[in-house]
Amino acid sequence: MTGMSETVRVIEIFRSLQGEGTRTGWPCVLVRLAGCNLRCRWCDTPYARDGGEERTIAQVLAEVARHATAMVEVTGGEPLVQPGAPALLRALCDAGYETLLETNGSVDLADVDARVVKIMDVKCPSSGASASTRWENLARLTAGDEVKFVLAGREDYEYARRVCAERGLCARLAVTFSPVAGELDPAQLAEWILADGLRVRLGLQLHKILWPDKDRGV
Ligand code: SF4
Repeated sequence: MTGMSETVRVIEIFRSLQGEGTRTGWPCVLVRLAGCNLRCRWCDTPYARDGGEERTIAQVLAEVARHATAMVEVTGGEPLVQPGAPALLRALCDAGYETLLETNGSVDLADVDARVVKIMDVKCPSSGASASTRWENLARLTAGDEVKFVLAGREDYEYARRVCAERGLCARLAVTFSPVAGELDPAQLAEWILADGLRVRLGLQLHKILWPDKDRGV
């Protein structure tokens, strides 16, 4: 099959429950690729930004197949900094998996297979990376794709609310507002969402609730 000998650098492949977004709670295999072009202040996967092992796409698929799963998420780091990522995503779709991509929004989504469910972060001011957002990526998202804002406080909330309103995001995509652990009280964020009548979901990272002491493999 074309592209199966291409390689990607892999940090870890594991089965867990999907921790974020509309599929929260579903069993899912996560393929965490190495490398990231950003340095968000509150990054919770700094170990994924360097290192990893080079594997062919065929090897990744074989490892995914060892887990009984219908759903696979390719995450990072930022998966799309690797040239082989689009071929991996295509191969996962071809193999029949419901295939999700978690991306930081700063890399062009043009080469991503249309069958992939794209979950795009829009970085808020407190991350230190909000200038990196490629706004044209939002136009590439279609029904079924998702947008996520990670919020550390009121300034981030107001930024996210403004972006949603100006770009009409909530009418066409599933939008999640997720608090930075230890920085924004989820109950406070819930009150803001309700007070403003926003059509967004509050996202609590399920894996951090279930396994608060593990920072890898969850
Ligand atoms: S984009 Fe994600 S992996 Fe990269 S620095 Fe930000 S939080 Fe960390």
